[in-house]
Amino acid sequence: MVLANENYIKLSDSHYIEDIEKRVNAYKILHPNEKIYRIGAISPSLPLPLDAVKSMQRAVEDLSTINEFRGYGPAQGYDFLIDKILKEYRSNFAVSFEKECVFVSSGSTTDLANITNIVSSDNIVAIADTIDPAYENTTVLNGHAGKLKNGKWSNLVYLQCNESTNFLPQLPTERVDVIFLSNPNNVTGTAIKRSDLKRWVDYAAENESLIIYDASFQAFIKDENIPGSIYEIKGAKKVAIEIRSFSKDASFAAVRCGFTIVPNELQACTFGGKYVPINRLWKKLIQNYTNGVSYISQRGAEALFTRKSKTEISELVNYYMINASLIREELNAMGYRVFGGQNSPYIWFKIPNSNTSWKFFLHLLHDLGIVGTPGIVFGPENDRYMRFSGYCNRNDLIAALKIMKNNF
Ligand SMILES: *Cc1c(COP(=O)(O)O)cnc(C)c1O
Repeated sequence: MVLANENYIKLSDSHYIEDIEKRVNAYKILHPNEKIYRIGAISPSLPLPLDAVKSMQRAVEDLSTINEFRGYGPAQGYDFLIDKILKEYRSNFAVSFEKECVFVSSGSTTDLANITNIVSSDNIVAIADTIDPAYENTTVLNGHAGKLKNGKWSNLVYLQCNESTNFLPQLPTERVDVIFLSNPNNVTGTAIKRSDLKRWVDYAAENESLIIYDASFQAFIKDENIPGSIYEIKGAKKVAIEIRSFSKDASFAAVRCGFTIVPNELQACTFGGKYVPINRLWKKLIQNYTNGVSYISQRGAEALFTRKSKTEISELVNYYMINASLIREELNAMGYRVFGGQNSPYIWFKIPNSNTSWKFFLHLLHDLGIVGTPGIVFGPENDRYMRFSGYCNRNDLIAALKIMKNNF
């Protein structure tokens, strides 16, 4: 009999998105004619920038002619896209990398999931406690997490990130090897300032730790004290991998394209004390786990760097951010304690009285037709919170907020 990889058994079968959909579908069966307001969406709701559409149409044409047809592309991505990315880092963040440091990806999920495969499972991995469950789940699947005790994994270090810290993660109080940081945080919508991020980079330099910096929401940053890239911080090239996505700002969630920067300065160590470049380890993973990224997606991503696309992307981001500020304003007016929504499309708020988050979720759904995300799916300490998002339709949002206010 084939033996199962037991790391895959350790992880719970339930996934929060499915858990929410099950309840929404049950409600729909009971109330087929009731309008549902989806204020918890995690996916952008507006269509692609026009240049990206045209560029992908041309790419399909390319593949239909004998002269322009292509088979497998370079495993790390095409130069036409990598050059645009390098140029953006030079002009926006005043930092340059050698070409081989950029790895085009089919979205950041895969890279975030794979990254712990290139470091030893003897490492201590730290995650903020409150953060997207994907980092913890993939660390479990990759065999780094140890045993589950009271909802926490024994080999993970949970960094305090709750109301008492304004939902900003606190530096580890012990030595850790790998740190996942998501800035802005996609659960709470909160973001780490440049001066604070410097402390993380300094910690990592001092402790020879590796920071996995998920900057998927960098386009939503409005406050100039919040860095758009960790490489704005001096010394970050020696300690950080940066992971980016075109999904959340440029509506690429279904197209699938992003990129990861693995600087040549990053090193890991063997048990024998030998230093090895992390870039080389990552390259091996990419060469053997993927066969490159779709040519069509990469041509689409290339077109996101035109001036026209940049304008369109900032309009998309503005739409979501205006939604986010509407949510903030109304929830504040209703007296809720509100976090996020200023540098991220996500709003995180404390639910009234002593409701649990599933109870509050069901009240919103059954009594008002509103769907949010209950905080408990982001850890047991978050059962007094709820997440809304600016990714919703503006008219639906306005109607939903009015219903909430009238019922308040
Ligand atoms: C959505 C999201 C991702 C994954 O995005 P891809 O579509 O896989 O590029 C990664 N990190 C965070 C924080 C996200 O919210």
